[in-house]
Amino acid sequence: MYFSSATAHLTAVRKLLSTPKKIVIVTHYKPDGDAMGSSLALYHYLLLKNHQVNVVAPSDYPEFLWWMDGHSQVVNFQANPDKAKALFEQAEIIFCLDFNSPDRIEKLEAPLLSSGAVKVLIDHHLDPKDFCNYVFSFPKAAATCELVWHFIVACDDSGLVNRPIAECLYTGIMTDTGSFRFPSMSPGLHRVVALLMEAGARHSYVHEMVYDNFPEYRLRLLGFCLHEKLTVISQYNTAYIAISEQELNSFHFRTGDTEGIVNYVLGIKGIRLAAFFSEKQGLVKISFRSHDDFSVKELAEQHFEGGGHKNAAGGKSLLPLQQTVDKFIALLPGLKLGS
Ligand code: 5GP
Ligand code: MN
Repeated sequence: MYFSSATAHLTAVRKLLSTPKKIVIVTHYKPDGDAMGSSLALYHYLLLKNHQVNVVAPSDYPEFLWWMDGHSQVVNFQANPDKAKALFEQAEIIFCLDFNSPDRIEKLEAPLLSSGAVKVLIDHHLDPKDFCNYVFSFPKAAATCELVWHFIVACDDSGLVNRPIAECLYTGIMTDTGSFRFPSMSPGLHRVVALLMEAGARHSYVHEMVYDNFPEYRLRLLGFCLHEKLTVISQYNTAYIAISEQELNSFHFRTGDTEGIVNYVLGIKGIRLAAFFSEKQGLVKISFRSHDDFSVKELAEQHFEGGGHKNAAGGKSLLPLQQTVDKFIALLPGLKLGS
């Protein structure tokens, strides 16, 4: 299915991969489960195909993903900028996974655009920008991990999918579908998940590593957010949480600690729009979630320099935290959210 509709690009990429190459895999800033799962799965696959492969992340990523095979080999640009830049310069092929615009890799944008490597995009976000030579963009896919599975199948290599590959792919599918429950989940994807389990993915183990592996302070931070910081605006079927840097620091904040909190906000009966604002180093990062036809992608794009999917998007603001929240509240009457 997905890759058979892009035959010319697939044939070209398969030809490129028919001899050993120097390959870099890059994914978006502050990678999530799908970003790291797809990158590390492709990494293991390409290593099995005798390529020289490196995964470069533009930043650190949450500790609940550190159990994944290959984590210790990932080059974090923020910790190791010279090495990351050298890999981009030397690469013959750069795979861009789980992002649709070069600004999503922040300071790696310039090294990517100036690199002479052939660039291949595999992604499921809408409206990809024109920055890659070969584009496999399928917004109907629930996760980039779903697409990496189909890429491996399209290369006639499903037999190479071993436990590390299967568990990386399982992780991204699980996290990007809210544990297989979002509308993006399909019968076909359940069949892929079954094949991943048959290839050795330990589903309970993966779930436990990702969702039952948090430091105590993360849970206390969640409790604080829900008890002290939640605001519900019933008139507009909207609810949000806003948390300052000082408050985050009092809970020993680490990357990933606030991931998923916005989903609790959307869990309130009648809420159609949920937002989570958090302040870090002078920047306010925002996560949006919605139900049904209300598009948070447009809200994030039009007002908060962001993007994403219809029901899950993110953005940022350089205004102080309270002013960012005020801007959001002022937008609500124009958003057709009332019942
Ligand atoms: P999250 O709220 O979990 O950080 O992100 C939800 C979705 O929105 C993900 O698909 C993510 O890729 C996208 N997203 C998050 N932040 C940004 C952003 O600043 N810009 C764009 N274009 N997409 C974002
Ligand atoms: Mn994704």
